Amino acid sequence: MTSRVPMTWLRIAGTGVLAAGIAISSTTPALAAPSADPGTPGPKNIIHLIGDGMGFNQVDLGSQFEHGRTAYQSTVKPGGVSTPVPGQGGTQVYQEFPVALAMSTYQLGNTYDPVQNWSSFSAPLKSSTDSAAAATTLATGVKTLNNVIGQDENHQDLRTVAERALELGKATGVVTSVPWTHATPASYLAHNEHRNNYHDIAADMMDSGANVIFGAGNPWYDDNGDRRSTPKYDYVGEAQWDALVDGQSAFDLVESKDDFLALAEGDTPTHVLGTAQVGGTLQADRTALKPGDVPFTAPRNDNVPSLPQMTDAALNVLSNASDEGFFVMIEGGAIDWASHDNNTAGAVEEQVDFNRTIETVVDWVEKSSSWDETLVVITADHECGYLSGPAANPAWTPVQGVQGGAPQVSWNSGGHTNHLVPVYAKGPGSELLAAAATGTDPVRGAYLDNSDVGRVSHELWAANDTDGIPLLATVPEAGEVDGRLTLSVADAGAGVALTGGENVGDRLRFAGRLPEVSVTDSRAAATVGTGGWTVSGQSGDLSSGPRTLRAQNLGWTPGLVSAKEGVSAGSPVAPLLGGGTGLGAPATLATAASDGRLGTTTVSADLALEVPVDTRAGDYAGTLTVSLFPVD
Ligand SMILES: [Zn+2]
Repeated sequence: MTSRVPMTWLRIAGTGVLAAGIAISSTTPALAAPSADPGTPGPKNIIHLIGDGMGFNQVDLGSQFEHGRTAYQSTVKPGGVSTPVPGQGGTQVYQEFPVALAMSTYQLGNTYDPVQNWSSFSAPLKSSTDSAAAATTLATGVKTLNNVIGQDENHQDLRTVAERALELGKATGVVTSVPWTHATPASYLAHNEHRNNYHDIAADMMDSGANVIFGAGNPWYDDNGDRRSTPKYDYVGEAQWDALVDGQSAFDLVESKDDFLALAEGDTPTHVLGTAQVGGTLQADRTALKPGDVPFTAPRNDNVPSLPQMTDAALNVLSNASDEGFFVMIEGGAIDWASHDNNTAGAVEEQVDFNRTIETVVDWVEKSSSWDETLVVITADHECGYLSGPAANPAWTPVQGVQGGAPQVSWNSGGHTNHLVPVYAKGPGSELLAAAATGTDPVRGAYLDNSDVGRVSHELWAANDTDGIPLLATVPEAGEVDGRLTLSVADAGAGVALTGGENVGDRLRFAGRLPEVSVTDSRAAATVGTGGWTVSGQSGDLSSGPRTLRAQNLGWTPGLVSAKEGVSAGSPVAPLLGGGTGLGAPATLATAASDGRLGTTTVSADLALEVPVDTRAGDYAGTLTVSLFPVD
């Protein structure tokens, strides 16, 4: 092993002997700029907070009710000439975040054109996204089509930032005020061609390995929190529900408000699926609530936790589940439901509830974590209801109202719009989101795209992946002859470049060579007896953001660099596509018997990576871990 490579000694739990693990600090793969600085550790925790349907005006609706003050109101004439309402300012904690910008949300194949958007009042009604496409993009960085959950436009599964967290040994979860199988949470933990396949999505989410899945959608309760005489399996199938109730799933099922509240402190189960005792949403669809009500005056469903209470519980369960940190997506899902219904009182209540949820998260960061280790991103999947002030069209008018009163607004759609939405961020990596804001809107100012949130989140997780030997395979665009598989050593930028990418039947083959691995053994014979040692290696999947090449696609042929009696190289392992089993499971690199173990032995291996010819072009990064074990 080269001298610049640090060696880490690891104690293997339970064996009572020292074994060596060879860890080489990793590079961050080169991705589209701006990207995480190599060598800067990524955040320990990433939290996405999504206000479903939360446009700038929904944020202001909440602030006006709470504080009598707005931040984003203006009269805008067609053509984008904006006259701001005087005396405005932010009143919410997140409006003081270092990143407070705008974001485009369109689905694949559409676009956001700032000039076009403000050219006429009807323009934002075209080309809007749904929650499935938008949340999939926030979770993966890849644009996709409406209705699609966790897949690209060809229905290839994409790996989400929540799933990536699990691969890194972190905990992961989703929390929402609407059914937990609804499009936004589903897009982080499931993969399906259509958002309406709730039962398949429920099964997929229950198989995801997530630690926390909290939401509404209880088959035994209606929208007022009253128990049904017979269950209604809209959002979760009978089979999945029975498995949860009967303890036949990976989760502890919680339903009552008290059971949610009990999770906020102390020890907790590692996997909890919370289904509040209500139908579609915690509060927004209760029949007592009328659109013209003064918000929070209609009787509330009192048998369910609030979104902030669910959030408190989720943060405790996730913190308990792993010392390595976590990812969680927390959705104010019913801002959208109330906005679809043009229910002004409901939209205010849901926005205020989401504001309290964000404050719960900020309190947790400041008391139990820090802004050095936790990234918080707050945004929306899209605007909903085309909320504006009274007498809007053809001009956009300011929303009006007073603190504690019913607002005066106009709703100009029952669906989504293509308007920009707000995005706020604080914590490690938030500067990457600011750097991504390359667009300029005449009314909203600088904006990024929702794909930037998923991309940056994946990049920041990649910076967490520091154990093992970094692997980098560049899959060329179709027609390019040369590809590269590079093994590199992080800080020195050293490594072994490998060429290839030639067609072998229906696949592309890349070749490379493992950096030399040296084993030095000076243990006394009295301690070791007749034992020797063995070195094994295992690869993780290689990834390019949300796309992966399975570790089984990588194989090797081990060899001795300095041959010694009593030391033998491991058997070749062919890649899966080449008829072998690949390096997804541990494989032996070399073995030393007692007579050959002493002194320094150096081994290496020729690597072969084989991928389907239609593999998407890109830089695929992964790590290969080499471990040394004593043999009795
Ligand atoms: Zn919607």
